[in-house]
Amino acid sequence: MLWEWRREVSKFKAQERWLEPLWKPQGKIGWALVYPNYYSVGISNLGFLMVYRMLAEMKDIFVSRFFKWDGFTPLSFEEGRSLQEFEVIAFSLSYELDLINLISILKKAGIPPLRGDRVDRFPVVGVGGIFPTMNPRPLFPIADFIFCGESEESLSEMAEVFLSCWGLSKDKVLERLADLDGVLVPGVKDITRRRWVMNLDRYALSAPLYTPLNQFGGALLIELNRGCKRGCLFCPVRQCYNPFRFRSFEGLKSFLEEIPRGVKVGLISPVATDYPFFDELLDYLLETGRKVSFGSFRVEGISEKLLLLLKQSDQKLLTLAPETANEDLRRRIGKAFSNDLLKEKISLAYRYGFRRVKLYFMVGLPGESLKDVEEINSLVREIKSEFKGLEVIVSVNPFVPKPFTPFEGESFLSIPELVNRLKIIRKVAGVDVRGEGIKKAWLEAIISRGDEKLGETLSILGDGAFSPKVLEEHLDVKIYLSGEIKPWRESLKS
Ligand code: SF4
Repeated sequence: MLWEWRREVSKFKAQERWLEPLWKPQGKIGWALVYPNYYSVGISNLGFLMVYRMLAEMKDIFVSRFFKWDGFTPLSFEEGRSLQEFEVIAFSLSYELDLINLISILKKAGIPPLRGDRVDRFPVVGVGGIFPTMNPRPLFPIADFIFCGESEESLSEMAEVFLSCWGLSKDKVLERLADLDGVLVPGVKDITRRRWVMNLDRYALSAPLYTPLNQFGGALLIELNRGCKRGCLFCPVRQCYNPFRFRSFEGLKSFLEEIPRGVKVGLISPVATDYPFFDELLDYLLETGRKVSFGSFRVEGISEKLLLLLKQSDQKLLTLAPETANEDLRRRIGKAFSNDLLKEKISLAYRYGFRRVKLYFMVGLPGESLKDVEEINSLVREIKSEFKGLEVIVSVNPFVPKPFTPFEGESFLSIPELVNRLKIIRKVAGVDVRGEGIKKAWLEAIISRGDEKLGETLSILGDGAFSPKVLEEHLDVKIYLSGEIKPWRESLKS
């Protein structure tokens, strides 16, 4: 079994290209950094990769990566060690459903997922990432410590605690961790303020490696900016990653000068077109013939220069997120552009040779009527008839209310209602409608606004929690779906 795993992993490792070697064979403290999803997802997460780099660069810390791996007990990606051999197990939790994977990984490693069942000899289990930054409460029964916010400044403080408390009891280590801002230690310190980094330029701006197996077409991931100046009412970025901050253009340019021109770069940002030096950056990337891929950009930001760069980067598909077709509803959820502007930008892209457009919509938005849903069909029909030969891919996802947004107390629409709304959209002939899966969104909505009781139930059910029927048998899911409780407000000061 082990040799099979090694063979699998060596295929992935052989494709990784490191900017500089980081791996060291040992250290005083062994730190397992776990991304509780598949390799291709984890290796596409710039935050996870940045944390790996910072830990690897620390003296006396020995860090290894772990990913979800079907059919195998989790072993470290670097050298095939088991989770139990590490002093610290730190999970990077970005997506709600990954919480179930986190629990499974612990169980498969023989580590009880409920912290109350772990005796002193077990490693210290921590969780950080986007999910606890929105809502740490479901992690209270599971994690020994939870980190909320951006970790750059705190990582070295946490490592210092582990190094200085080496040999002491777990309780003593946790007491010391509780002194740090941004850190929650359930039962010891239940409320904190998120940490954030004031000056991004003090920290490395890229991932330490790239691989063709990432979700950005093999691009080296680079950060442009953090936070968002926009105020879409459904989105937690503005509240959880405030304020809007950006990398200096000079720093970005000098970094890119060092990277061979043939290496594609992935520009990561909540809204790339909001980067204050975006125009200068486009000029520079066009001049240097660099290929890029983007995390996302806004409809308003599409320009001839941007389209030229996308063409230079061999990008054939233009992805836009109108969210809804009704302009009034779009304005009410915080996106103010008109359908005419959307069509104008598609027309510009069409003139530049783009023949595929992907449009992201949501259904189940607060205040949405069936007529609003039908308007998605009309809008897509109009676009198809206006632009001959244009392939329109429509991706429709249920709206999931998120903590710390103005919609945090809204209800998640019932499954039959959502099915009905998707059916209305599927009526559009010749349009490929891809939905993320209503059941997944239903589970996401429950976990997103979960509390300790939810965390405890998931820990007991493990992978069984992926079944709505099983989860409903063990939990009163209505309180989470209706938004009547807001447990995150008890642990995070906004
Ligand atoms: S949806 Fe995009 S533009 Fe709107 S607040 Fe979130 S990150 Fe900003």
